[in-house]
Amino acid sequence: MPYFHRRLALRAGMVGLAEFVIGDPLTPAAQAETRRGIFDAHLHIPSDNGENFQWHLVTRNMPEFVAYLDKCGVRRGVISSSWSNKAQTPEDYRNGNREVAKYVDRYKGRFRGSCVITPFRIEEALREIEDCHKQYGFVWLGEFCNYMTGYKYDTPEWARVMQLTTKLNYVIQIHTNTQEMEYLAEHFPDATIVFPHLGGSQKDIFARIAIVASHKNAHIDLSGSGIERVGILERAVKEIGADRVLYGSDFTINEPSGVIARVKNAFLTPADREMILFRNVERLLARAGGAKLPAPP
Ligand SMILES: [Zn+2]
Repeated sequence: MPYFHRRLALRAGMVGLAEFVIGDPLTPAAQAETRRGIFDAHLHIPSDNGENFQWHLVTRNMPEFVAYLDKCGVRRGVISSSWSNKAQTPEDYRNGNREVAKYVDRYKGRFRGSCVITPFRIEEALREIEDCHKQYGFVWLGEFCNYMTGYKYDTPEWARVMQLTTKLNYVIQIHTNTQEMEYLAEHFPDATIVFPHLGGSQKDIFARIAIVASHKNAHIDLSGSGIERVGILERAVKEIGADRVLYGSDFTINEPSGVIARVKNAFLTPADREMILFRNVERLLARAGGAKLPAPP
């Protein structure tokens, strides 16, 4: 195609795109900031003990994990240890949380660390939550996955975890079904809770969005199933508001760039997209007292 024809075609394409997007197009500077700033609220690192949530291993260690995030355009994130999630003893989650601290330190400026415990020996678990806060400056807890080691959220022990979370001003990320979600959001209104995953079936997704929408302390991250259904993200933003919807991928299990693609293509304003891709998680971390993690150059 001759040059000027191609330019005309491009311009027509851009006009078409501008009509397609709600709100003004992003300035080039804002686009660059969004690209640099993408902040994944949900990352599980490959653990030093070989624990890795990936179903068929392709990113086995931290260098491979980081290289894949680079490929996907994810420049920052909250990391937790698979070792801690599968912990049978306090020693397991202490090892997991310390490997997180090690990698936060090694990849300076790239990751924020998250503490995970299992509540079976509750005094030790609470001490670990305090230690991660004081010694390593963690302000994020979870993702907690009670199904992995078989505990419940509606117990006196878990209530103590939630109370300490609130006292220390942590953000807590908890994998739940709808019933557990409702219970936690309702019983701990002062805790800042992130519920991962939009959900499975249509009924499940709509119910989860409605629960988050009606509890101001609740947030949702977009990892896992649900995001691939076109329109669901728009529904979440419409009902909850863009300020409580967070980009998260659940990598190493799930693909980080698929979620980003849906956020970028969604019928949302540029400001909504920025909030989802990085501003919300930055705000939660800052409010929890964490040091600022600037966007990389
Ligand atoms: Zn997860």
